[in-house]
Amino acid sequence: MQGKCKRARVVAFGCQMSERDSETIAGLLSACGYDVLPHGAAAAAAAATTAIAAEGDTADGGGTAAPVADSAPPDMVLFVTCCVRGNAENRAIGNLGDMKRLKERNPGMIVAVAGCMAQEEGMRRLIVDKMPWVDLVFGTHNIQNLPAMLARVEAGERVIEVLDDSDSIAEHLPAIRAYRHKAFVNITFGCDNFCTYCIVPYVRGRERSRTEADILKEVSDLVDAGCREVTLLGQNVNAYGKGLPPLPDGSVPGFAHLLRAVNGVEGLRRIRFTTSHPRDFTPDMIRACAESERVCRHLHLPLQAGSDRVLARMHRGYTLKRYLELLDEVRSAMPDVAITTDLMVGFPGETEEDFLETLRAVAEARFDAAFTFVYSPREGTVAAGMPDQVDEAVKGDRIRRLIEAVNESAAASNAALVGSVQEVMVEGPSERDSSVMAGRTRTNKMVHWPTPQPPRAVPAPGDILNIRIEQASVYTLRGVEA
Ligand code: SF4
Repeated sequence: MQGKCKRARVVAFGCQMSERDSETIAGLLSACGYDVLPHGAAAAAAAATTAIAAEGDTADGGGTAAPVADSAPPDMVLFVTCCVRGNAENRAIGNLGDMKRLKERNPGMIVAVAGCMAQEEGMRRLIVDKMPWVDLVFGTHNIQNLPAMLARVEAGERVIEVLDDSDSIAEHLPAIRAYRHKAFVNITFGCDNFCTYCIVPYVRGRERSRTEADILKEVSDLVDAGCREVTLLGQNVNAYGKGLPPLPDGSVPGFAHLLRAVNGVEGLRRIRFTTSHPRDFTPDMIRACAESERVCRHLHLPLQAGSDRVLARMHRGYTLKRYLELLDEVRSAMPDVAITTDLMVGFPGETEEDFLETLRAVAEARFDAAFTFVYSPREGTVAAGMPDQVDEAVKGDRIRRLIEAVNESAAASNAALVGSVQEVMVEGPSERDSSVMAGRTRTNKMVHWPTPQPPRAVPAPGDILNIRIEQASVYTLRGVEA
C-alpha cells in the first residue's frame, strides 16, 4: 500500500455540531489521501489560539509549539467554523487572518473554510473578498462533496460552494473520531424554532431527523469499536422524529422512543443528549430518561432568561413558571438529576428588573452549572434589528453578577456530594496536573482523584470507577477510589 504523504489539520470552532462535522471532514480527507493531524475538541482548544499561528511563528522563534512532532506546516488547514456566538466567530476570523503569512511562505498549502460562517452570507463575502489566501469555502449542507471540491482545488481552482439548505441527510460518510471511548451521534440537523437571537436556522437549515435504524447502526458500530458513551446530538433533540414515517411496528419515532431504543444497545454504558428545548420536553421523554438505566442523570435545559417578557421577545415558547414546573417534574422522576442551562444577558430591551428575574430564576432553579453568555447580535436575525440594544458596559456588569450567582448555585450543589460515592467514567490524566486523574460522573460533573502509582495500573479512558467525594469546588469534585 502506498504511504500517505499529504498532511491536513482540521480545526473546529464552536459547538459540538462543529466538532462532529470536523470528524466527518477528517474522515473524508483521509479517504482523499491525507494524514489528518489531531482534531476535535482537545486539538481545537490548543490549535485555535496557538498552533496554527505558531507554526508560522515558530520559524521566527516565537509562539507556542504546535502539538505535532514535525513543525513543518501541513499541506492543508481546514477551519470548521461557527457563527452562533461572536467570540467563536472572532477567533475563527483571527486564525484565518494569521494564515496569510503562513500561506505566503508555503504557497502550495491549501487553506479551507467550512461550517456555519461559510453558510452566513456576510461572513462568506468577507472571507471570499478580503482573504484571497483562502482556497476553498464550503458550507454545512455539502460536506459530502468535499472530495470532488478538493480535487478541483488541487488542480488550481479557487472553489466557493455553498448550498442554501438541504432536505436530505448524507449517511455512511467516513469519520475519524476524536475519542475512542465516547462519541457524538447526530440525530437531527437544523432547527425550525427561529429564536429571535439565533442564527442556527439560517445556517444549519430546516430541521431533519435521521432514521432510528441509521442511528442505532452507528451506535452499535461505535460500541463494537470500543465506545462506551454516546451523546445524541441535535439543535433540539426533543423534536426528533418530526417528518419521519412510522416505524415498522406502527409506533411514532419520537425522541422518547429513540432513547429507549438506544438504551437497548448492549455494551453501551452511558447515553447523553444535547440540546433539549424546554418547550418540547414531554412527560414521556422524562419517563424514558428515568426508566433507561444507561441514560445519564444530567439534563441540559437552556433557560436563556428569567423574565417572561424577554422570553417572549426571544420567541422561546415557555414562561419561567412552566420551566420551573418542568424542573419539578424532572426532579420528581429522577431525584439525583443534575440540571445545567444556558443563560444570556443583554438581550435587546432587557431592563434591570428583567435581569433581576434571571438572578431570581438561578436561585430558584438550583442549577448545577450554567453556560453564561453576553448577547451578541447575529446579522440577519430578528433581534439584531431590534432598536433597544443594551449598552456594553451594562452587559459587562450583568454578566459578572450572573456568573457570581451561578457559581454560588454550582458550589452548593457540588458541596452536597461530599461524602457520597459517585460512578465516574475515566477521561484520562488531568490536562493540567498529571498527578491526578480526571473523569465525569453520570451527572456530568468533573472529578479528580490521585493517579495510581506503580504497580497499580492507570485506568484507561472509558473505564468506570467508584470515587468517594472528599472535596468540592465550583467546577470540580475531588476524591479517592472507593
Ligand atoms: S432552539 Fe432556538 S436557540 Fe436553539 S438552535 Fe433552534 S433557533 Fe437556535
